[in-house]
Amino acid sequence: MRIHELPTDVVRKIAAGEVVTGCFSVVKELVENSIDAGASLVEIEIRSGGKEYIMVRDNGSGMTNQEAKLAIKPHTTSKISSIEDLDSLITFGFRGEALSTIASVSRMRLSTAADSEELGTILEIAGGSVTGQKPLSGSNGTFVEVFDLLYNTPARRKFLKSASIEGRMVTEMIQRFILAFENVDFVYSRDSQTVFDTRGAGSLQDRIALIYPGISTRDLIPVSGDSGEIKVNGYVTLPSRTRKNRMGENIFVNRRYVRQFELNYALERGYGETLQKGNFPFAVLFIDIDPQEVDVNIHPQKLEVKFASTAAVLDEVKRAVRSAIKGAGHFTINIVHS
Ligand code: ADP
Ligand code: MG
Repeated sequence: MRIHELPTDVVRKIAAGEVVTGCFSVVKELVENSIDAGASLVEIEIRSGGKEYIMVRDNGSGMTNQEAKLAIKPHTTSKISSIEDLDSLITFGFRGEALSTIASVSRMRLSTAADSEELGTILEIAGGSVTGQKPLSGSNGTFVEVFDLLYNTPARRKFLKSASIEGRMVTEMIQRFILAFENVDFVYSRDSQTVFDTRGAGSLQDRIALIYPGISTRDLIPVSGDSGEIKVNGYVTLPSRTRKNRMGENIFVNRRYVRQFELNYALERGYGETLQKGNFPFAVLFIDIDPQEVDVNIHPQKLEVKFASTAAVLDEVKRAVRSAIKGAGHFTINIVHS
């Protein structure tokens, strides 16, 4: 075979492997778009773990007809225009890749309406190409439906996990959004069963109770640290209410869920010796920091961020947790200062 350029659709299908790593990654991108669009209500529905059907509906800004057609093209975004804009990024999105990629490997229906136009738009898309268009009457917002994910890349579809595993991964991800966005209501259903409906659960405590019915509010200690540059807020459990793994450690940086060992470790160090070896706290911690001090421009699937000054962040996490636990009067054992 001689060297040749790959056709665009092949390039796109290959690249789709980066964004579409499972049903959960599609749901994640769509929910992030809804939050970026300023939605106060996001409804999510999946069938067969998302393999058959994924639906995300929001009451956000919506898109005009022209915007909707652009949005499903590669590298189109309303969120940044220059590389410098990444310094002050406050949205989840900025790559302009998600919608176009998902559209290229599924059958998608995008229904959307914006304030500025009388009628909204319904676009039917298959394998990335628009196959139909209809007007939509209705209120502001966006409604994305994804059918038969990876139908046109069977080799990849094979690697989707079972419906129950895919579904569980979607559920875990929705939980994190529910925790991180108290001001947004989420209604999530799986195979026609409502899993979460946050309407009426407006505080972080309410939301923890909704997701973790086994955790009593009496066991939660509020964390609140503010070094000026770095804010650390949320809840942790009493040292007597620990778990055997880190799964209960929910850490967010500027409301993005992260899995970054140094942060988990800083949280645990906040407990000092009250935390016995092999035990881990339950925590929902929000680290909020100037977007200039954190780089989120790492691989889309990486659950990590880069800080300009990591040590200061780790210190503040440890300090905030330590003072929360001390304040709760449960810090009886000597603290090892380090
Ligand atoms: P990104 O989020 O990185 O900009 P996407 O491919 O996810 O890229 O979306 C492309 C563009 O489509 C967004 O920048 C936004 O303008 C628009 N868009 C996508 N989803 C929504 C939505 N739910 N509501 C309003 N606009 C949306
Ligand atoms: Mg996006």
